[in-house]
Amino acid sequence: MKHKDKVVLITGAGQGMGQAMVQRFASEGARVVAIDINQQAAQETALSCEGEVIGVACDVSDSASVRDAMAKAVAEFGGLDVVINNAGVGSVDEFINTPDENWARVIGVNLTGTFLCCREAARIMQEQGGGNIINVSSTAVASGEGPSHYVASKAGVMGLTRSIARELAPSAIRVNTLVPGPTNTPMMAGIPDEWTQAMISAIPLGRMGEPSDVAAAASFLASEDAGFITGQNIAVNGGMAFL
Ligand code: ADP
Repeated sequence: MKHKDKVVLITGAGQGMGQAMVQRFASEGARVVAIDINQQAAQETALSCEGEVIGVACDVSDSASVRDAMAKAVAEFGGLDVVINNAGVGSVDEFINTPDENWARVIGVNLTGTFLCCREAARIMQEQGGGNIINVSSTAVASGEGPSHYVASKAGVMGLTRSIARELAPSAIRVNTLVPGPTNTPMMAGIPDEWTQAMISAIPLGRMGEPSDVAAAASFLASEDAGFITGQNIAVNGGMAFL
């Protein structure tokens, strides 16, 4: 019961890594707020867990929606100890043909959404005397392999983390970036088998990441064992790249 009674809010909790993190923290005794733009998916994640988990609909790219969701978490559970910014979107766009709206959407959810959630969480955590934020980025930042908006948004998340880790340290708020490599999520299930095989051959540990690998690292970062770690990129990628 590593996280007994901690209040943990996880965005993008409707599937994949977000869902695995909700299940992990719930199994470790946390009271969890599972956030997703897809309300039904958030509820289903909550129902898949034993323990105190609520599903809340929220669009992380909308500041009013973020404020409401965090207020709901505080009202329900009496505080906010850990926020994990995992909600993300992508689209396959060749750089020179990237539509303005796709650029705006990917940056809006992945980077601005992370900013909005960090800002709201920090306001609450500052008042309560401390807390812990984990932002999810991508190994694609190291390799550049991915669409420009996605890679730029995830690189932005690393910069945001470093800046606010310094600024929030005196308030006893730690902020780190979790950096998954290719991971077995519903998003991956859609890609052709040859691509998957090519990806695996680039991973020294010889397999794709599992959502549970990422959840385990998030659990560590949120724990007291990581009490002296802030502003860092923590890669969970089988040795595919060193950050
Ligand atoms: P992952 O690889 O992290 O598992 P997925 O694409 O499988 O990625 O999941 C991302 C989750 O983020 C989805 O459940 C999706 O509904 C959610 N999501 C996407 N956009 C938003 C948003 N604007 N606000 C909140 N959640 C979002």
